Amino acid sequence: MKSDVKIGLECHAQLLTRSKLFCPCPTDYHNADPNTHVCPICLGLPGALPAVNEQAIRYGIKVALALGCEVQPEIIFYRKNYYYPDLPRGFQITQYDFPIAFNGMVRIESDSGEREIRIRRVHIEEDPGRLVYKGTIDTAKYSLVDYNRSGIPLVEIVTEPDLRSPKEARIFLNKLRSIMEYLGVFNGDLEGAMRVDANISLAGGERAEIKNISSYKGVERALSFEITRQRNLLRRGLPVKQETRHYDEVRGITISMRTKEFEEDYRYFPEPDLVPVRTAEYVPELEAEIPELPDEKRKRFITQYSITSEHATALTYDKYIADFYEAVASEIDPKLSATWIADVLKGELNYRSITMREALERLSTDDFVLILRYLKQGVITERGATEVIREMLDRGGKPEEIIKRRKLARISSAEMQHAIDAVLNDEANRGAISDYLTGKREALNFLVGQVMKYTRGRAEPKTVRSMLENALSNAHK
Ligand SMILES: [Zn+2]
Repeated sequence: MKSDVKIGLECHAQLLTRSKLFCPCPTDYHNADPNTHVCPICLGLPGALPAVNEQAIRYGIKVALALGCEVQPEIIFYRKNYYYPDLPRGFQITQYDFPIAFNGMVRIESDSGEREIRIRRVHIEEDPGRLVYKGTIDTAKYSLVDYNRSGIPLVEIVTEPDLRSPKEARIFLNKLRSIMEYLGVFNGDLEGAMRVDANISLAGGERAEIKNISSYKGVERALSFEITRQRNLLRRGLPVKQETRHYDEVRGITISMRTKEFEEDYRYFPEPDLVPVRTAEYVPELEAEIPELPDEKRKRFITQYSITSEHATALTYDKYIADFYEAVASEIDPKLSATWIADVLKGELNYRSITMREALERLSTDDFVLILRYLKQGVITERGATEVIREMLDRGGKPEEIIKRRKLARISSAEMQHAIDAVLNDEANRGAISDYLTGKREALNFLVGQVMKYTRGRAEPKTVRSMLENALSNAHK
């Protein structure tokens, strides 16, 4: 599939260190009052000196290694000079000529098959403070600033312009998130944990940069909006200017902020208050700590458990789901487990907007094995099993207790015959029955539905169907 769209991403991900990058302030700012996790260093007060957090360096190197990058032997911090209210020092401490690593690669599964997205560089830098607007950025009368976020360590991952569609950009970000969560250095559930700048151009036009997109869905929406905007300009013979645009999450549009600035405008120079860091010394130890990553796990699942590649992909994206699956599959049929975790459980989690990590508080692997065992033994139907899972996610409890209390046990064949007789003798179903007998086979679906309703889902639809067919053919004779 040919595409005239080129997208490159700069992803900024917060690293899960306990303290900030250059000061001892705690990083757990998400539920804290504004401007409570601050000190002279992250407030940029005169004379305050930074000291680098070794854990952040280690995490940054781990990310680089997991992305297949060449880690550089020594790194140097730079000052990037500009003024903005979220940056009290008037410069951001970041990296420039000597970043952590260059030249990596991430594989993604897109609509056009497996694609390789090249990583240009990986470096670490500090997060600025957080600006809060009342309403939208271009209409707010004032901004509020919270420096709790000032100095949080970020790893910045820059791709080559290898992405060809907004959807690919989203798939790439999900993959990146997955890899960093496997490493234990990132938590994508935290608000604002990943922020993205996107470069996007169409053949024949200049490149626009969209700044600070702060949600995974936002990236796809912002890029789709931008493609339409640029395409409309080109179609009308108008130039696409090189510029920086802001993404307005509320309205789902991008707004021109300023014409694009150039690197030299930032007057980068080495940070004189920090010494270079010998990264080479960390590499052998950190290389040994890299766990099995999603791609390898996926391959292993396919061969070890003989499951489909779709299931393997769905089961390995989230490390917690992968671990859950392996625990269940070691106790009971791996294929059945894959279907019930990848298709049913994941669907129920999405519906409730909860993560596997959160669900573990209510649903243990032992209980899940038990539910599947009851299903295999015919104690409950598929619908009954789904009900037990739902109830456990919503209210907790134990499978056997829920089956009893909610009367989910599969009905006996005598009860089943009774249900079928009741439905066939019901005046209200006369029309459907005669439709079926005069050749309208689809009327059977309605009758199956009536029996399912009568038994409150405690019968297997397949069995109901064949018993109904039997009963009706006898009636016909
Ligand atoms: Zn501080």
